[in-house]
Amino acid sequence: MKSYTEYLWLNVEKRRDYINITPQVEEALGKSGIKEGLCLVNTMHITASVFINDDENGLHKDFDKWLEKLAPHAPVSQYNHNLTGEDNGDAHLKRSVMGRETVVAVTKGKLDFGPWEQIFYGEFDGLRKKRVLVKIIGE
Ligand code: ZN
Repeated sequence: MKSYTEYLWLNVEKRRDYINITPQVEEALGKSGIKEGLCLVNTMHITASVFINDDENGLHKDFDKWLEKLAPHAPVSQYNHNLTGEDNGDAHLKRSVMGRETVVAVTKGKLDFGPWEQIFYGEFDGLRKKRVLVKIIGE
């Protein structure tokens, strides 16, 4: 069995954003040479997510509106977590809703997506560098 590991670095210039990282994951898959297997993609930060959905701008705005309704950023004093001096209590909750990782099957050297599926990095506490792990195993 072969194994390939790559770390993607992202520096999102907003507090929150939704970025299609499918091209970077496909590039990693190409470098791995793996034709049949599994591709894990996960954020390495507890205030960001990796998830699969549609690359449609209206939907991304809907996600953002919905997450802000569930866990508004302000007032920051509403979160016990922020008593530590941080201001990202909401980002931890948003990340938990959107998930830490995704796994995509690799078939004939390609990510085996359903219709419209793309891999996204969801940032909820940006303005700093963060990493995403891509781990591909198979033959
Ligand atoms: Zn925090």
